[in-house]
Amino acid sequence: MATVPEIFGSMVFNDRKMEERLPHATYKALKRTVQNGEPLDLSVANSVANAMKEWAVEMGCTHYTHWFQPMTGITAEKHDSFIYPASDGQVIMEFSGKELIKGEPDASSFPSGGIRATFEARGYTTWDPTSPAFIRDKTLYIPTAFCSYTGEVLDKKTPLLRSMEKLSSVAVDVLHILGKTDVTRVTTTVGPEQEYFLIDKEMYDKRPDLIYTGRTLFGASAPKGQELADHYFGSIKTRVAAFMADLDEELWKLGVMAKTKHNEVAPSQHELAPIFATSNIATDHNELTMEVMKKTAEKHGLVCLLHEKPFAGVNGSGKHNNWSISTNTGENLLDPGKCPEDNLQFQLFLAAIVKAVHEYQDLLRLTVASAGNDHRLGANEAPPAIISMYLGDDLGALVDSIISGTEYHSAGKTNMLTGVDVLPDFRKDTSDRNRTSPFAFTGNKFEFRALGSSLNIGCPNYMLNTMVADELAQFRDELAGAEDLDAAVRSLVKRTLTEHQNIIFNGDNYSDEWVAEAERRGLCNYRSLPEAMAHYVDQKNIDLFTRNGIVSKQEMYARYEIELETYSKQLHIEALTMIDMAEKNITPAVIEFVRSLSDAVFVKKSLGAYSVYAETSLIEELSEKLEAFVKKTDELKTAVDNAAKINDDLELAMYYRKTVFELMNELRAIGDAMETKTSAKYWPYPSYGDILFGV
Ligand code: ADP
Ligand code: MG
Repeated sequence: MATVPEIFGSMVFNDRKMEERLPHATYKALKRTVQNGEPLDLSVANSVANAMKEWAVEMGCTHYTHWFQPMTGITAEKHDSFIYPASDGQVIMEFSGKELIKGEPDASSFPSGGIRATFEARGYTTWDPTSPAFIRDKTLYIPTAFCSYTGEVLDKKTPLLRSMEKLSSVAVDVLHILGKTDVTRVTTTVGPEQEYFLIDKEMYDKRPDLIYTGRTLFGASAPKGQELADHYFGSIKTRVAAFMADLDEELWKLGVMAKTKHNEVAPSQHELAPIFATSNIATDHNELTMEVMKKTAEKHGLVCLLHEKPFAGVNGSGKHNNWSISTNTGENLLDPGKCPEDNLQFQLFLAAIVKAVHEYQDLLRLTVASAGNDHRLGANEAPPAIISMYLGDDLGALVDSIISGTEYHSAGKTNMLTGVDVLPDFRKDTSDRNRTSPFAFTGNKFEFRALGSSLNIGCPNYMLNTMVADELAQFRDELAGAEDLDAAVRSLVKRTLTEHQNIIFNGDNYSDEWVAEAERRGLCNYRSLPEAMAHYVDQKNIDLFTRNGIVSKQEMYARYEIELETYSKQLHIEALTMIDMAEKNITPAVIEFVRSLSDAVFVKKSLGAYSVYAETSLIEELSEKLEAFVKKTDELKTAVDNAAKINDDLELAMYYRKTVFELMNELRAIGDAMETKTSAKYWPYPSYGDILFGV
């Protein structure tokens, strides 16, 4: 059997293969593009294309595809074969630099938020040489960016790449002012921890709600949920273990550094964490991870659910976006070092992030908003809808001392005494974790925890990069030419932390007191996508993105429309699915069951039975519920019909949230109550117990 180092990256046209297969000058030129962002010329592209094709064909590939991340939220691909007519009526396998650099998928069916009318179908995909090509299913995948004929950005990747460039150039300026003149490039790194559910395919196939919407729209709680906490980190079941082993191997072949896997809190819930990578590669890899999870599950007769809230009553799934910044000289700029009190460079970067998160908390909130994630944020499981930062005891004390001008006392690392001779004592972390904070400092990185499990991490990361770059640019301008640099940095840090300390919160984010306290502090609390998204196009946000050249005002409006439209469409589909399930299966099933009870009453009475209490009381209860259920179904139908009268995107999304969503919840409550009273023989769908404990 091949070892892990042997299979790792075997399906990737990685640095080693490029060095082996490219002419030295081409390899060097490509490296300069990848490492320093230098533009690439066609002769280099031709040479790279040829080497890629040779390798791909040797590996059995017949096709290539430009792989991109349109605003649908999933990846897209269009496959072309390498064949090229030869003079003798035969074909040869060809791939030119032009084909590598530019693709032209028909863009008309991808959401563009009105930027591009359907008749202007042209869209271009452009090779992203910073993310390596790879092979899946006998096809060479080329990571690309996607834009319209007129140059508007239509994807999630371009803004991310731009934001990385921006942050790099500004951070380098700042570091140069601080005397670190050897730094020429700064990169953002991301390690996304991915949660998911794994259920039996047979159960899945019987649930139209899972098939159409990714979540259960009906379903009474099972007698057991997650209350015993016996699933978290529990030993992994054989079938799941086989899936995970297969998944790891597939991901390793694709160069994804899958590292940690474990069971999560909810039954049937699991997590996978990779080793962190540069933001854009981490984004591509996370998209790949989600796709490979789904495909691998199929092979095992399982279905991988990436919806944020597949089951009511147990935890939903999120994604932790671990984020940091480091230099090409190998320094992590978010590492406080041994003496953070003297580390002005660290303090400066920390201050920029504190200010960014405070000023653009609305952006961080809305970048994680989705119909699915609305079920988590604000509920008592995920970080709340209020964005705040957790710094931990040590850094918290440092910030306090800077603000108040008092001396800083580190909590200091202490020895953990295990009290058992054979167990080694070890150094304890200086602060415990705060699992409730949406944006927590964790040693040498920040962990943005509010992301939904299915989200493309490109968006939160380009927002984060841009806001931090913008604050650093202000710092740079203030510090440039300072006579006493030390004093200038100290006063800038002190002023910034003082002005923005309201975003720092070290307590329990789930408590009601925090909601009230956050309101006093003037922090936003947007509970749903429409509420949050309304602020995307606030002037300060448009200014931020246009000032930094990340996306234009028109592109922002396009994104705004797409998000709102998608939200309304998703709720629309959910409502229709519920109505369908209610009318075609649930109502008839309950009627059948009631009829069988009535038959029983009839038979028993004719035999002169002493009591028919059990049957009649059940008939009464179910009949009453059924009547309410049918009426509620009709109400929901009318509400859905009325949505057609609303034209404004924001108003429509608000309507779906306030009216349709509420009715769906009410309908579900009645349906679930009927489920608990109806014979399992008659109930048309697998129960929560069947699904959650079925693997
Ligand atoms: P946990 O949060 O579960 O304790 P870790 O803190 O070890 O786990 O790491 C979580 C994730 O953070 C991993 O994906 C890891 O690769 C990533 N990570 C670690 N260091 C960095 C960094 N400098 N930049 C970005 N991500 C990082
Ligand atoms: Mg974590």
